[in-house]
Amino acid sequence: MNQTPDLEQLLTDPVVATLARAEETAWFTASPTETAAGIEQSGIDPAIVTDAQARFLRFAPWFAEHFPDTRATHGILESALVGIPDMQAELSSRFGKELPGTLWVKRDDSLPVSGSIKARGGIHEVLQVAERIAVEAGLMGPDDDARVLMTPAVQDVLSKHGIAVGSTGNLGLSIGIVASELGFKTTVHMSMDARVWKKDLLRSRGVEVVEHAGNFSDAVEAGRKTAEEDHSVWFVDDEASLMLFAGYSVAGARLAGQLKALDITVDANHPLIVHLPCGVGGGPGGVTFGLKLAFGDAVHCVFAEPTHSPCMSLGVRTGLHDAISVNDIGLDGITAADGLAVGRPSRLVGEHLQQLIDGYVTVTDERMKAFQGLLHDTEGIDIEPSAAAGFAGPWRILGDETYRAAFGLDETRMANATHIVWATGGSMVPAAEMAGYVAEGQRLVNEVVWG
Ligand SMILES: *Cc1c(COP(=O)(O)O)cnc(C)c1O
Repeated sequence: MNQTPDLEQLLTDPVVATLARAEETAWFTASPTETAAGIEQSGIDPAIVTDAQARFLRFAPWFAEHFPDTRATHGILESALVGIPDMQAELSSRFGKELPGTLWVKRDDSLPVSGSIKARGGIHEVLQVAERIAVEAGLMGPDDDARVLMTPAVQDVLSKHGIAVGSTGNLGLSIGIVASELGFKTTVHMSMDARVWKKDLLRSRGVEVVEHAGNFSDAVEAGRKTAEEDHSVWFVDDEASLMLFAGYSVAGARLAGQLKALDITVDANHPLIVHLPCGVGGGPGGVTFGLKLAFGDAVHCVFAEPTHSPCMSLGVRTGLHDAISVNDIGLDGITAADGLAVGRPSRLVGEHLQQLIDGYVTVTDERMKAFQGLLHDTEGIDIEPSAAAGFAGPWRILGDETYRAAFGLDETRMANATHIVWATGGSMVPAAEMAGYVAEGQRLVNEVVWG
């Protein structure tokens, strides 16, 4: 579909050359774009964020009724922000560099309903589609409590509609679980790397799971095609959906509330630095948009990707965005990091949001697993490997004097910094599988090079 990029030319950039060798990299934006200008430049209307916030509130009573793990928060899907001083000390000692400020983990691995960051975006799109169908059928007012969707009249309408999605796993889980609960005919197209337990779980909930021999993009393509052939099917497009993006962005204001409750100041002298694992980019992109709206120039957002699948880093660095795939620079795209095995980035995020993204870090699978093992040993927190990708970033910023100088991160400000590693998934991983990850991670701690 796309013209093959001139590889030789691209490889003259040392960052692209490092990406092509599947080695770890970190590169940062040369100079800050003022947030207000960056938002304007994105062309994305901030009103989608408040709209999504209101939608989650309308659905809160529905969630509380249908998902017992949301009862304690009265149907609001949110995760804890947890301090991890022992992990901070351990990594400071391993990397041989004391991290100033405080290190936190955002526990999206334990989000209710589907145990990953996809519970923000994926679920939001399904809710929005359900509401729209019910409103168009004249069976729901725009501000009605969402429980009206469970009345027989609305259920009759929803059951005649389908939801389809292509996924490496976690998006399929989020969408499948909620769409089937709402009464949609739900189909999840999964790529070959998707875990068996995810497929089994979805089937147990009445979701049709279609397996594809190819990668993430092939699964997405297959989903798109079925929706094109049947107009009663809504296709959730992970590569370009604004509804997904809006759902993720709600995290910004929510995090602001959490930090306030913890009495943590975020301003020019107290920077907030957030590290987000990136697959296709919708999740970290949406969260970044929400964070920039909430904190302005005081927040720094860094994306973390696997060395074998650094699609966003490659797309932004080359300026080719979704016109280049990691395969074009000779990478296989294969990684143990669920959700991050994506070869081509989102059109929406790379092109429209790049001026708001501060940096890009790549991490080997071995290092992600080692982080995961260390987090288990130091804090007793278990997350999936992809969710640990963000732990390299804080030390990468410490090592990049040019970035810190350009963005005013002097010693005083670094000492005041709040570093948040966004842990994006894990609580639904079966115990035996998690134990295997942890054991491997603990072994790899002694094999990866830290210095
Ligand atoms: C999907 C996912 C991400 C990244 O989200 P994208 O929207 O694909 O960039 C990160 N971590 C986990 C565990 C995921 O499932």
